[in-house]
Order: sequence, then C-alpha cells, then structure tokens
Amino acid sequence: MSDNAQKVDNVVPSFRRKQVFILDCAYCDSTICRRAMKAVLLADSQTELFSTDIQEEGAVDVTDEKFYTDNCDCLIEHMACTVCGNVVGYHVRMPCLKCIKSCNNGHMWMFYRHAIIPLDRLNAQGEKVMLWGDIPTGHHNHAAGMLEDECCR
Ligand SMILES: [Zn+2]
Ligand SMILES: [Zn+2]
Repeated sequence: MSDNAQKVDNVVPSFRRKQVFILDCAYCDSTICRRAMKAVLLADSQTELFSTDIQEEGAVDVTDEKFYTDNCDCLIEHMACTVCGNVVGYHVRMPCLKCIKSCNNGHMWMFYRHAIIPLDRLNAQGEKVMLWGDIPTGHHNHAAGMLEDECCR
C-alpha cells in the first residue's frame, strides 16, 4: 500500500542523470535499442550489461526458450536480434520477489555487453549526450512497469 494514487514517472529519480545509449547488434550492426542504460548486475558486479524498459519494436524478439539463472528465481527468456537471429540478451518474463524488492531500475530487457555496440545518444540539439531525465515522456507510458517507484529513493 504505497502511493498508487500518485502519478509516477517511469524513470526512477536516481536514474534520471544516467546517460542514454543507442545499441547496435554486434553481429549485424542493426540498431536494436535507442534507449538503453548501462547497468551492473546486482548479483555479479563484474558483469556489465545494458538494459531498457521497452524493446525496440521489430528489432528484437524473445525466443521460446525460458530458463532460470543461478542468481535468483526470475523467469528469463532469451532475446534475439530479428535481423541476424543471434541472442543479444534476455527478457525477464517473471521477476522474483528478491529482485522486486531489491534496488533496481525496473528494466526487464537486458543486453549482453559482448553482443552489442553501445553508442552515445545525443539530445535533441545534438550537443550533449542525452540523459534519462531528458527523454520525452508520453510515448512510452504503456511500458510503465510493476517495479517503478519501489526503491532507490
Ligand atoms: Zn530475480
Ligand atoms: Zn543482429
């Protein structure tokens, strides 16, 4: 029972100053994400990942294969580049309680560092790198996740 009535932003405040990346598939150079955040796995801080809250429509798709990781009870499925078919990351189909409770950015789409090429996304003026707080809101409300507003305050 928190603040369901309160209007929440998709972006957790502490993530608003994080840089937005564009990700290209490392195998075929297709752009597979235009709003990625650099992330570090909670369970393994050595692993660098990129994540997003919305998958690029038509650029990536999930495979039928579902599995669990060693780290927790999240139900995961592979995410593949639709152009070349290579697995470029995974989608958290069903987050576990541990992950819901822990501090996270609410992103359910994760990209493996070795499978992508990160590029700086510039702001509308093309002068500076875009930050998450700069992303125009309104077009991604459908993706409001279940994890928002839960932590990192
Ligand atoms: Zn989990
Ligand atoms: Zn590809």
